[in-house]
Amino acid sequence: MEHYFMNTYHRLPVSFVSGEGSWLKDRSGKKYLDFTAGIAVNCLGHAYPPLVKAIGEQAAKFNHVCNYYQSDVAEAFAEKLVAACAPAGMRKVFLGNSGAEANEGACKIARKYSLRKYGPGRHTIVSLKGSFHGRTITTLSATGQERFHQDFGPFTEGFRFIAPGDLDALDRALDPDSVAGLLLEAIQGERGIFPLDSAYVRAAAELCKERDILLMFDEIQCGLGRTGTFLACAGYGVKADILTLAKGLGGGLPVGAVLAGDKAQDVLGIGDHGSTFGGNPLAAAAGLVVLETVQEPGFLAEIARKGERFRGVLSGWQHPQIREIRAKGLMIGVDLQSEAWPVLEGALAEGLLVLSAGPHTLRFLPPYTIKDAEIDQGLDLLKGVLDRL
Ligand SMILES: *Cc1c(COP(=O)(O)O)cnc(C)c1O
Repeated sequence: MEHYFMNTYHRLPVSFVSGEGSWLKDRSGKKYLDFTAGIAVNCLGHAYPPLVKAIGEQAAKFNHVCNYYQSDVAEAFAEKLVAACAPAGMRKVFLGNSGAEANEGACKIARKYSLRKYGPGRHTIVSLKGSFHGRTITTLSATGQERFHQDFGPFTEGFRFIAPGDLDALDRALDPDSVAGLLLEAIQGERGIFPLDSAYVRAAAELCKERDILLMFDEIQCGLGRTGTFLACAGYGVKADILTLAKGLGGGLPVGAVLAGDKAQDVLGIGDHGSTFGGNPLAAAAGLVVLETVQEPGFLAEIARKGERFRGVLSGWQHPQIREIRAKGLMIGVDLQSEAWPVLEGALAEGLLVLSAGPHTLRFLPPYTIKDAEIDQGLDLLKGVLDRL
């Protein structure tokens, strides 16, 4: 089968046939404990009964209507999503299918906002070194990691990178005559789970406000409860002008969203932007279940508690292979002495799925519904792999 795919992924030798909760099963019937959740996508685990029911019921009605019209389910989803993001300052949403598409929308909104208010020339988007914002030409232009850039230029003009945490560089880069927006991951995920410093995030918010530069949080990986607050930026006590979400938003179905607050909510007008699948009813039905579940009382506190369990067990080992643990809720990065890929292979053989982020970092993004006993079981398997290195 591999023969038919373009060779874009370094794949491990396993094909899955079914899943339940935090577990996947391969063709031979072997079970695997899933610390990846499809890279933060299956946030409620596999075959979560309310999600299965909602998708099934919607599929029995209709799968799609085009954006000439509305559907009750997409309206309900948009209303619930905006309400959930209102504490971060959000007022309106545009629905698409992926993270990159959401970030494209964010850049378009920032540029049009600035153009209409200040005229041409103020179109630069500043982002951080080590960031990841997507694989399209423009979102690659915003991605501050050289390793993704080779071979694909020329890139979209008007993007500038600065080192995270450097306040002077931030102050210099946020030139009010040329900059429309600042795009940040509050916690850099693909780089290996690096939370930004809170003084830095607060200073960035302050500078953006003073200079009327739109503050855009890419919460595609760190949002939707993953860090123990509904949005990671809320954990920093700051509001956004624009916010992007995707990955976990549909609990496994493809959904992306760009949201905007008071300044930018009405920047896009009729015909400015669109997406054939945007607001897809199946995805919206799934997204409603995700939002309802994550907002249940005590749910976010459980995510934070489980994250601490991961951290506690990992640091308790004092393992010579582990150089550093960075964790916020169920977003966990572990720097190793040796390379990460052989650990992924070793863990797979033991029936444990983990991710890497860069050559020496393991990354865990398990489903929010993971049980304590599963955390302990998975970490036990991991310890066996690390012991044998
Ligand atoms: C995954 C990711 C993206 C890209 O999302 P796609 O759905 O793959 O386009 C963008 N930003 C961040 C922070 C991500 O983690």
